[in-house]
Amino acid sequence: MKIRNFRGGVHPEYNKHFTSDKPIKVLPAPKQVVIPLTQHTGAAAEPTVAKGDAVLLGQEIGKASHAVSASVHSSVSGTVVAVEPRPAINGRSVLSVVIDNDGRDAAESMSGHHDPIQLSAEEIKSRVEAAGIVGLGGAAFPTSVKLNPPEDYKIEYLLLNGSECEPYLTADQRIMEEHTEDVILGAKLLAKAVGADKIVIAVEANKPEAIKKLQALAGSHQIEVVALAIKYPAGGEKQLIKAVLGREVPSHGLPSQIGVLVQNVQTAWATAVACRTGKPLIERVLTVSGDGIKEPSNFLVRVGTPFKDVIEAAGGFVGEPGKVIAGGPMMGLAQFDLDVPVVKGVSGILVLSNKMVKQYEPLPCIKCARCVDVCPVYLMPVRIELYAMNGMWDHAEDYGAMDCIECGCCTYICPSKRELLDWIRVAKTEIVEAQRRQTS
Ligand code: SF4
Ligand code: SF4
Repeated sequence: MKIRNFRGGVHPEYNKHFTSDKPIKVLPAPKQVVIPLTQHTGAAAEPTVAKGDAVLLGQEIGKASHAVSASVHSSVSGTVVAVEPRPAINGRSVLSVVIDNDGRDAAESMSGHHDPIQLSAEEIKSRVEAAGIVGLGGAAFPTSVKLNPPEDYKIEYLLLNGSECEPYLTADQRIMEEHTEDVILGAKLLAKAVGADKIVIAVEANKPEAIKKLQALAGSHQIEVVALAIKYPAGGEKQLIKAVLGREVPSHGLPSQIGVLVQNVQTAWATAVACRTGKPLIERVLTVSGDGIKEPSNFLVRVGTPFKDVIEAAGGFVGEPGKVIAGGPMMGLAQFDLDVPVVKGVSGILVLSNKMVKQYEPLPCIKCARCVDVCPVYLMPVRIELYAMNGMWDHAEDYGAMDCIECGCCTYICPSKRELLDWIRVAKTEIVEAQRRQTS
């Protein structure tokens, strides 16, 4: 099997062995869930319930409020005890619906379709939208928006992303191995929704069992399964398209401009479930891993479950943790409050021991150009950092700061441990703010 590759990237320790052979376990629902109304890229959902309301499992509790937004649903049945700001994984307070679980899982009536592939493209799109599905690879972009590209763009390929290139994470791998049929069904539904004729599923070569299972089913559905080089960030949207299809997304452009829709394998699974059963996105599979956790595991977790409950289910900490991260070590977010809830975009909870968490003081740049060599979007991170540190936002923009996919490869490889990505993020924020000021 030919291995597809892309330019740049790095080879961090993958450490998938902690959980790659751990089947998905269902985590019982907690006594109380905290469900943020912003769990996605775009505008917050508008609350549709108030304190004191009784809610059912699967009931909409927040309605998409804007063209780029997603609805949210209750992951338990019970009583709303608050609609108020609560701490979230991004470190901010986010308006959230707090629900006391009555333990009955009394469900809203859900209407599925016994043979969802018979649904029309419009029906698939409206079910995806009603289910509040977002990209489950981490970005949490509303899927219904991606399924409605500008009319001028003809989508030729659905490219299903099963790379899971973040170290430690194995949730997507387990989904591909344990729910292969639904991943294939979801791929077909997503392709039908956008009129794509071709489906390719791309999986990093370190998941041979997933590749084998997908290939065994894909053949009868005219779906191609390809293997990707074991290299981070193989799952970056632009890197994936270049490696698999040889096409390049233009700077500031979208994959739809070159006829491609990229979706994550877990998103495909959620789409299949929503169309077949009518169940909205109220749970997801995530990996709990790292040398600081007693029993690394893959769990199916209800949205709104506190991190501390998930950590406890995985046996708790080994000694004093050095760092708890939502997501993987390359793009994840460090956490300081373990009451924050699991949301749709949380692909993992990583617990690293003190010995794994090293503190560095940045040293002067030695002009080795390693950051340039590894950048998968051909940027000069060292230059953008310099301009950002000096507040020269126009220059940072000229050097492509807005094209940075925030993969962190430059920071990872830098021998002087310079905070390249942190400064690039500052530059991006300032550039967007300047653009906003110009247009307002
Ligand atoms: S500049 Fe951005 S895209 Fe390039 S390596 Fe650094 S974080 Fe990744
Ligand atoms: S990798 Fe670090 S030391 Fe090397 S050029 Fe880039 S910023 Fe400088």
